Amino acid sequence: MSASDARPLALTGGTLVDGTGAPPRRATVVIAGDLIGAIAEAPPAGATTIDVRGRTILPGLIDAHVHLCSYAGDAARADRLWSVTTFEEEQVLHGAANARTALLAGFTTVRDMAGARAEVAIKHALDAFVLEGARVVSAGFIGMTGGHGDLFTPPAVERRPSVVADGVDACRAAVRRHARDGADLIKICTSGGVLSMGDRSEWRNYTLEETRAIVDEAHALAMRVAAHAHTRAGIAQALDAGVDSIEHGSQLDEALAARMAESGTRLVATLSIHEQIRLHGRERGVSAESLAKAEALHEGRVRAVRVAKAAGVRVACGTDSSSVLPFGLHAWELELLCRDGGFTPMEAIVAATRDAAETVGLAERTGTLEPGKWADLVVVDGDPLADVTLLRDRERIRMVFREGRRLVDRG
Ligand SMILES: [Zn+2]
Repeated sequence: MSASDARPLALTGGTLVDGTGAPPRRATVVIAGDLIGAIAEAPPAGATTIDVRGRTILPGLIDAHVHLCSYAGDAARADRLWSVTTFEEEQVLHGAANARTALLAGFTTVRDMAGARAEVAIKHALDAFVLEGARVVSAGFIGMTGGHGDLFTPPAVERRPSVVADGVDACRAAVRRHARDGADLIKICTSGGVLSMGDRSEWRNYTLEETRAIVDEAHALAMRVAAHAHTRAGIAQALDAGVDSIEHGSQLDEALAARMAESGTRLVATLSIHEQIRLHGRERGVSAESLAKAEALHEGRVRAVRVAKAAGVRVACGTDSSSVLPFGLHAWELELLCRDGGFTPMEAIVAATRDAAETVGLAERTGTLEPGKWADLVVVDGDPLADVTLLRDRERIRMVFREGRRLVDRG
């Protein structure tokens, strides 16, 4: 079945969880071409029907924080210098494979968070369906010399894959280059990081002046800005400059959360990467330095999500899938939002559907099951509201549709 078939396709007998947080209900979802044609009592005359009794129909899930161009092969061979020591042409192939892995796990959209032309290229190929995979929303990354992004490259290595810009004028020019290349948004850092080498998470990244210039330029070119920030100072600087989302937000406190709720700034907490580093970091080649940084941030990170939720901040599902956290485990974030953030399974699903769609700028097209939106949907065996962990079971993800195309069909 492709989107060009004239006959509508109707999924009948399933339970609908529509992504808005509304109670589940029994309904027929009608797919017409690449869009949701109707949510109805019964299939229209002439429709091809698929019986999905005992199954749950969800909007295609969304991971708002991934790094596509990460090693996609056997985990044991992952090397943290892979992005520095491998041709970009080779990395692109892994990025496309990772987008396919996300799709197989029920995620129809991923937002890449440290990209440039390579990720834009993957996005275009997937949008044209010459390859099958999750839709890509691509951030153009900009960082300062010695910043979190720059320190994924060891200081003695001259080739620096991530875009470095210092000073207001250079920052503006970098935003403009990303716009010219077709990036959807801009990603920056306002604090140091965990997996970067030789910095500390409490380092300031960029001045307020540089941050403001980037946000001003990006907004003028209709691009949002996402800021990696672990520290209170980093979060405050990003909010002062008017960014659209805070990534990680490890030390978020009540006062900062109140500001985010007021301004509508989203939080993408990436609990998964943090849990992965704590549980499996050593075997994945994470350095002692990074393990110690992650441990130091632990208490704050778990608390930050609860503080955000209590303040009414919209939280979006984002995992930080990368060489340390392999693609395909995206639904783990929903479990962790429940376990650590006090979310109900329904709230976690909304974080991975409606709220994630709003965060990545696609709320008009996807994230909820409504007529006129793209037919991005997942058919899951069982009831994820009773047990959210079943979303992580690949065998239960029976069908995945992206824009009306049934790209995964396990029967
Ligand atoms: Zn990241």
